Amino acid sequence: MSLDATFERVSMPLADPFTISRGTQTDAENVIVRIADEGGMTGVGGAAPAAHYGETAGTVEAVLPDLLAAVEEVGDPHALHEIETELAAVVNDNPAARTAVSIAVHDLAAKRLGVPLYRLWGLDADAAPATSFTIGLDETERVREKTAAAVDAGYSVLKIKLGTDRDRELIDAVRDAAPDARVRVDANEAWTPREAVAKTEWLADSGVEFVEQPVPAEDPEGLRFVYERSALPIAADESCVTLSDIPAIADRCDIANLKLMKTGGLLEARRMIAAARAHGLDVMCGCMIESNASIAAAAQLAPLLDYADLDGSLLLADDPYDGIEMPAGEIRLGAQERSGTGARLADE
Ligand SMILES: [Mg+2]
Repeated sequence: MSLDATFERVSMPLADPFTISRGTQTDAENVIVRIADEGGMTGVGGAAPAAHYGETAGTVEAVLPDLLAAVEEVGDPHALHEIETELAAVVNDNPAARTAVSIAVHDLAAKRLGVPLYRLWGLDADAAPATSFTIGLDETERVREKTAAAVDAGYSVLKIKLGTDRDRELIDAVRDAAPDARVRVDANEAWTPREAVAKTEWLADSGVEFVEQPVPAEDPEGLRFVYERSALPIAADESCVTLSDIPAIADRCDIANLKLMKTGGLLEARRMIAAARAHGLDVMCGCMIESNASIAAAAQLAPLLDYADLDGSLLLADDPYDGIEMPAGEIRLGAQERSGTGARLADE
């Protein structure tokens, strides 16, 4: 069997500038990978590189030729374990680049078998939790307006970015505009341990569900300090990058937040989910700002999750790819009529 692989960079403007405690993003550069079999059936995947983890569109493009050569060398798109192992052997790090290839191969393998990927994995579409919709940092009035707009659009689960000297004001505005929504917050490492513990007290009073990454990943003892004293469950994101991080965070948080772009592939993501379960952690899957070329693949994992944060495509002004429908945040895996991940060019 022979496979033919190509890639291209896509630049996608965001619907609104997106701000977290580390900075503001106005567009997203993804790299789309396509892998075709001899019959012309094509699997698609996407890389959404994150500078925080040392990747850019340029670094992804630099390593893709070697990664794709490895896939062509294996030749069998159903040899998922062998391919993902080879990808990790060919380049160190570069997880978003490897993930894009892993997604494209999984998409192709499932398409060749004529089933949606979640069916290939034997998962129950009805078990998928709703995705949260994220409200980035902004002027307090803008946060209130964006929250009201999200509620009007039907979203019942909101993730609010914090990490300012106005955090309490922001949450009061959110609660004003969305008294009934399920609300989670993400500080993106912005707080000190003591500050984080104090903030969980009034966040709990505001009915917040959990707090994501309160303190810097470089301070694991700080994370433990917060976890042991927090009034709310703690999710680890920047502290939870690869499989080997799972045992390290097991006594420092309640929820492991994995993202495909951190893991290096779909098999590795499933290993992380299994490892998190083995350590008694709940599991969340988040995302970068991503095209449906990769979000559709993350959605296939949704039945394995306690919490989904897969709004990457929803934050784009325009996504060149369609994926799994998420009306009002409901991940409609069961409505998926297409085999593979469900990602396809919007004009296809
Ligand atoms: Mg986060």
